Amino acid sequence: MSETAFQKCTNPACGATFGIDEVLTGCTKCRSLLDISYDWNRLPVPRSLAFFEHRWMTKGMNASGALDFSGVWRFRELMPFFRSEADIVTIGEGRTLLQTADLLAKQIGMKQGNLALQYEGLNPSGSFKDNGMTAAFTHARMVGATKVACASTGNTSASLAMYASLTGFKGLVFIGSGKISIGKLSQALDYGGLTLQIQGDFDDCLRRIRQIAADPKNGIYLMNSVNPFRLEGQKSIMLRVLEARGWEAPDWIVVPGGNLGNCSAFGKAFMEMKELGLIKRIPRLAIINASGANTLNELVSCRGVKWNGGNFDQKTIGGLYAAMDESGYKPHTIASAIEISRPVNLPKALRALDVMNGVVREVTDEEILEARAKVARWGFGCEPASAATVAGLQKLMAEQIISPSESVVCILTGHELKDPNATVKYHTGIDMKAAQDLAPREVPHGTLSNPPIQVADDLDAILKAINA
Ligand SMILES: *Cc1c(COP(=O)(O)O)cnc(C)c1O
Ligand SMILES: [Zn+2]
Repeated sequence: MSETAFQKCTNPACGATFGIDEVLTGCTKCRSLLDISYDWNRLPVPRSLAFFEHRWMTKGMNASGALDFSGVWRFRELMPFFRSEADIVTIGEGRTLLQTADLLAKQIGMKQGNLALQYEGLNPSGSFKDNGMTAAFTHARMVGATKVACASTGNTSASLAMYASLTGFKGLVFIGSGKISIGKLSQALDYGGLTLQIQGDFDDCLRRIRQIAADPKNGIYLMNSVNPFRLEGQKSIMLRVLEARGWEAPDWIVVPGGNLGNCSAFGKAFMEMKELGLIKRIPRLAIINASGANTLNELVSCRGVKWNGGNFDQKTIGGLYAAMDESGYKPHTIASAIEISRPVNLPKALRALDVMNGVVREVTDEEILEARAKVARWGFGCEPASAATVAGLQKLMAEQIISPSESVVCILTGHELKDPNATVKYHTGIDMKAAQDLAPREVPHGTLSNPPIQVADDLDAILKAINA
C-alpha cells in the first residue's frame, strides 16, 4: 500500500513524486521546489474546523496532551506526514496570540475592531520560525538524521539551535558577516549551535549550505526553508488566526517577505482548506518587502511576474538576478530578517499570491522603524522586519487598496527583544551596532563557552571547520 503522505514537485508540468522518507532539497527531475502532499481521501480529515475547538485547553501533559498543547500539532490532522505521534518533536511552540489592536488602529486610521496583530514573537525561541522547525525536526527524526544545518539571518538559527539542544542533534548555523542581530546570535551560541561566520551575506551562506547538504557524504539534513516540512508547520499560523476569529477568515493577511517561506505556507494552508471544504472564503494576502531587499516587489508589482499555472516567467526572474550580479547588488535593510535578495521560495510565493489574490509592496527602513515604534507604543512590540506589515498596511490604505472597514491581520513574526539595538537607536540615536566581526576578543572562560568560528567563503575551509 502506498503512503498517504509524499513529496511532490511544485512544477505542474513535472509533478514528480517522492517518498516521504527521502531527504531532498528539490525535485531531482526538474529542480523545482517540493511540496508535502497528502492523499486526503485515505486520511481522517475533520469535517469542519470546529473539530479543533478547545483542544488547546489541554488538561495534562501526557504524550497527546503535549501535542494538543502545541499550537502547531493541535492541528496535526492537517499536516499528517508523520508516521506515529511518537515521531513528533515539540516544545509547546505556537501558543501565540491574536490581539485586536484598537489603539494602533486609531493611530493609522483603521476602524475600531478591524485591525489585529498575530504575535508570533511569543514562540519559545521568540519568532514564528519555531512553527516550522518543530515540523522539520520531526521529519529529521523520522529519517534518522542527527546533524542539521541552516543558513540564517538569525531567527532560523536561534530556532534550529533550540530544537537541536532539545533533541541532542548536532546543529550547524551559517551566518553572514555582521548581518545578525545580537539577540538572535546569543541564542544560537547559548543553545550550543556550531556557529560559522562566513565571509559573505545571507545569500552566500545559503548557496554554501545547499552545496554541502547536497553531498550525502556530509550527512547533513538541511533546515532552510527549501525544506518543505517547515512550511507544513507554518500553515498552523493561519489556523490559529482562524481559530481566534471563530473560524472566520479576515479580509486581509499581511506578512513580511524574506525568503518567502511564510507567505508560501499561508497560501498552501488556504489551498488545502478550500480543497477539503473546511473554509468558504480565502483572505487576500499582502506580502511586504523592505525597499533594500525588494526582489519580490520588483518582479511582481513592477515586472508583472505571475504564477500563471506554474508556467511563470523565468526569463524575467533570471534577467533581474543577472543584473543584480552584474552590478554587485547586495540587499541592505535595518530589517535584517528580510534582508534577502534571492528568495528561495519565490515560485511558491507566486502560487500563494495567485491562491489568495495577493499584492506585494515595499516599504523603506524609515517607514519600518516608525511602524515598529507604533506597534510598541500601542501594542507590545516586535522586531523591525515584523513591523514592515504595519508600514505596508499604511501604504495599502493610502493607495485605497485596503479600506479602513476591512478586517486585517498583520503577522508580527519576531519578538521585540530580538533586536534591541534598533530600538535603542530609534529612541536615543546611539548605535550600539551588532558586532561586525565576532572573533572572540579574549579566551572565553565558561565551561560551556561556544564562540562563533570565522571561516572564509570557501568549501574546503567550511568542511574543515564543520568536521573539526
Ligand atoms: C524569517 C523571518 C521573516 C521572513 O520570513 P520568510 O518566510 O523568510 O519570508 C520575517 N520576519 C522575521 C522576524 C523572521 O524571522
Ligand atoms: Zn519536478
